[in-house]
Amino acid sequence: MASEKIIRLRKGSSGRLKPGHPWAYERQILDLSPAIVAGDIVTVVDNQSQLIGRGYYNPKSDIAVRLLTRKNESIDAAFLSRKIQHAVEKRSSLISITNAYRAVFSEADGLPGLIADLYGDTLVFQILTLGMERLKPALVEGLKVALSPKYLYEKSESAFRKIEGLADISMWWGDKGPGIVEIFEANARFLVDIERGHKTGFYLDQRRSRLGLADIAQGKTVLDLFSYTGGFAVHAALGQAVRVTAVDIKEEWLELGRKNAQLNGVGDKIVFEKKDAFTALRDCQKKGERFDIVVLDPPSFLKTRRELGGAIRGYKELNLTAMKIVNDGGILATFSCSHNMPNELFSNVIKDAARDAKKNVAILKRCHQDKDHPIVKSIPETEYLKGYFLKISPVI
Ligand code: SAH
Repeated sequence: MASEKIIRLRKGSSGRLKPGHPWAYERQILDLSPAIVAGDIVTVVDNQSQLIGRGYYNPKSDIAVRLLTRKNESIDAAFLSRKIQHAVEKRSSLISITNAYRAVFSEADGLPGLIADLYGDTLVFQILTLGMERLKPALVEGLKVALSPKYLYEKSESAFRKIEGLADISMWWGDKGPGIVEIFEANARFLVDIERGHKTGFYLDQRRSRLGLADIAQGKTVLDLFSYTGGFAVHAALGQAVRVTAVDIKEEWLELGRKNAQLNGVGDKIVFEKKDAFTALRDCQKKGERFDIVVLDPPSFLKTRRELGGAIRGYKELNLTAMKIVNDGGILATFSCSHNMPNELFSNVIKDAARDAKKNVAILKRCHQDKDHPIVKSIPETEYLKGYFLKISPVI
């Protein structure tokens, strides 16, 4: 074995590891070498001492081990660099569409605990686990070699870090770059606030659905709820929508949304309104205001499974009211980005909402996170964003 630090799993408890999942839980562990401390690289074997793989260990997390490889190889700078390079190469088809994409998506790219998003010449990365924190110098080098960013910003801010026993870190590596960068996405341009914005600054995962909206927006009136910095709204306006209303609860994002609209020459087509989306929908219903297309892209309503009941009610109310304010034959583009809301449950919420709204709902398109956030079949947790473009008609 390349390492003396060995973790042996209980008999019959290699669970999902063998079919390709990278996590081992504390309860699966039979014994471990005494020298092992939190954050160490370890070799994981089954109870017959057969190699399962190599990864890092942290007893603070319920997920005690995350594998980085299935081979008996060294986890060093060369290994990490190869993995990062491979992840970046997989994204090459996106380069003609955008200069902003997720270059590394954690477990989905075999690098659990590392996220790296490129925004033009600025790379923003997040380290989410202690094991990856310990490998940071090599990861930073690997990212620099693979992507040659002019500026490098670390935005390691997440509730996951607390679970791992880590404090948040936000800092520039090397020269301080601009906090707000301009990117392009097809024919749209956006200002992205990487320091203060959500996630690493932009909802890169919704790219494909934003472009899908642009394709159907011509001549339509559009309501973009939970608009953030106007991603859907700008694409709709560039797709020749006649009028777009964008609603978000935070003035800061609406302000950046207005700038984005101006940047694209569609400032006069989009109205940005500060309002709670639930209230906005009810107001439209009361006033009898209707739209050809409604976009519903709420934040995750449930951080834990315990909140499921409330979240389901929230999603249902939003979808039900939205269906009522879509013109006959119009479209509802509806999404859920909750890890804890499986496809089937979301589909049931839509079905219940349609029944209560007395609408006939036909699926025009199923949506997922874009391909720079790969969905790996053996790791169901990699699939989190789901949605539909639905055609809404009265029940006949
Ligand atoms: N569609 C966007 C991303 C949406 S993120 C894009 O493609 O870029 C979710 C947004 O919902 C955030 O901007 C957040 O400020 C907003 N938000 C959260 N709760 C809200 C509420 N109750 N009403 C309106 N907006 C809300």
